[in-house]
Amino acid sequence: MILAPERTNDLGIVADAVQAVNPWEAFAYLVAGVLFILALRGLSSPATSRAGNRFGMAGMAIAVITTLLTHNVASLLEILIAIALGGAIGFVIARRIAMTAMPQLVAAFHSLVGLAAVLVGAAAFLNPGAFGILGLDGDILVVSRIELILGSAIGAITFSGSVIAFAKLNGSMSGSPILLPGRHLINLGTLAAIFVLTIAYALAADAGPGEGWAFWVVVALAFAIGFLLIIPIGGADMPVVVSMLNSYSGWAAAAMGFTLGNNAMIITGALVGSSGAILSYIMCRAMNRSFLSVIAGGFGAEAASSDGAVREQRAFKQGSADDAAFMLKQAETVIIIPGYGMAVAQAQHALREMADLLEEEGVAVKFAIHPVAGRMPGHMNVLLAEASVDYDKVFELEDINSAFAQADVAFIIGANDVVNPAAKTDKSSPIYGMPVFDVDKAKTVMFIKRSMGGVGYAGVDNDVFYMDQTMMLLADAKKMVEEINKALGH
Ligand code: NDP
Repeated sequence: MILAPERTNDLGIVADAVQAVNPWEAFAYLVAGVLFILALRGLSSPATSRAGNRFGMAGMAIAVITTLLTHNVASLLEILIAIALGGAIGFVIARRIAMTAMPQLVAAFHSLVGLAAVLVGAAAFLNPGAFGILGLDGDILVVSRIELILGSAIGAITFSGSVIAFAKLNGSMSGSPILLPGRHLINLGTLAAIFVLTIAYALAADAGPGEGWAFWVVVALAFAIGFLLIIPIGGADMPVVVSMLNSYSGWAAAAMGFTLGNNAMIITGALVGSSGAILSYIMCRAMNRSFLSVIAGGFGAEAASSDGAVREQRAFKQGSADDAAFMLKQAETVIIIPGYGMAVAQAQHALREMADLLEEEGVAVKFAIHPVAGRMPGHMNVLLAEASVDYDKVFELEDINSAFAQADVAFIIGANDVVNPAAKTDKSSPIYGMPVFDVDKAKTVMFIKRSMGGVGYAGVDNDVFYMDQTMMLLADAKKMVEEINKALGH
């Protein structure tokens, strides 16, 4: 028989009756944990991502079924109805959602994880007996107080932060930073108040619903700080925010796992928390930004404030699909750089056809993917995989950037910020420091976008439009590529 860890109250007295843990339950949770690790492993490459998803689904099914079978569930019917309703809503949303709206969907789902953590924390606070967290003195154990207040606070931050991230990504509120005067002071003051009240709650003489006002104040302050932390973060930093909130939602779930004494939740929460943190770090590195400067916010404010400014008219060369097809056929090496506009136009299938046609002509075609191209991590990889582009033709930034110097054509389709040389040269640019593709080194640059007026996510002009070797192909990406394919002989 495996024994659950004993809990002692502040006087060191063993408080919980020693609970027997069902060995089958422990084993099933272990299997679920292993499946979640395999899921993360699978999701690290497009070639194995489907298998990764299946591992994740199997792990979650085992965790949920084990919990339902081994716990004293008050009403199985109610739970099954809730699962059916939630599952049906999730199914419909997943089928309907456009690929371009995926980041805001992820943000919306994170907000629900945060809210769930707050609700579990509140339930444990209001009815601690049902959660087995009462000490011999009839009050909530100190360790449980810390777990439930921390889990609820992180959950509240995740909830309000994710709601703001959703509104910004969805265009329901302006994506530009909102900078409150004295915001750093307000944020630090709020965080300090949360810290002090958490300690006060942990040490309070009575932590139950009657006296535990500090619990509610901490939750309210945490809701406020989630809001305050995300509103000053703007523009190009949103991908980091989404993965950071992902990490927070994991830590909230892990803290709640301790309160509920559920190992599966602790393991899953820790996996989500740490993988989200690692992803945030990778994204920061891809944009050459420090994590602290992202959290401090305000990035992109300058670009937003110059939105209304009249941009100077500069000369550029425009070409047609026929011109592009002619030059592409003559090339030996073509590097295609997809971006957000390819996703909007759903041009990936036509693009793959173009690559096939060029390869039939003996042209070597490669795809170059920037870590923050599109609107979510892996966005371009998913679209190219959907169009069955071979994985061995798809290259990461650091693996392909030196190849532009030998390339005949850099074919930019709906990308903009990720090829903007201002990131290397203009210290005042909001994207300064972000590593970008060296497309200016290619002999010819073809640039598909709809109009000269449109800008990328960071809202800044791009010198590549005006280079001698650049041919602007101004049209919807899918239409333009289809016309190029026609001109190539289809
Ligand atoms: P950008 O957002 O910089 O540029 C998109 C380009 O696509 C624009 O030039 C736009 O010009 C063009 N475009 C839009 N629709 C179409 C269409 N139907 N047909 C043809 N062109 C079109 O894209 P990038 O992928 O280069 O950069 C990504 C940016 O998004 C970075 O700043 C990144 O930080 C940010 N970001 C990334 C996230 C991620 O996780 N990957 C998440 C959130 C933000 P026009 O309007 O003239 O057509």
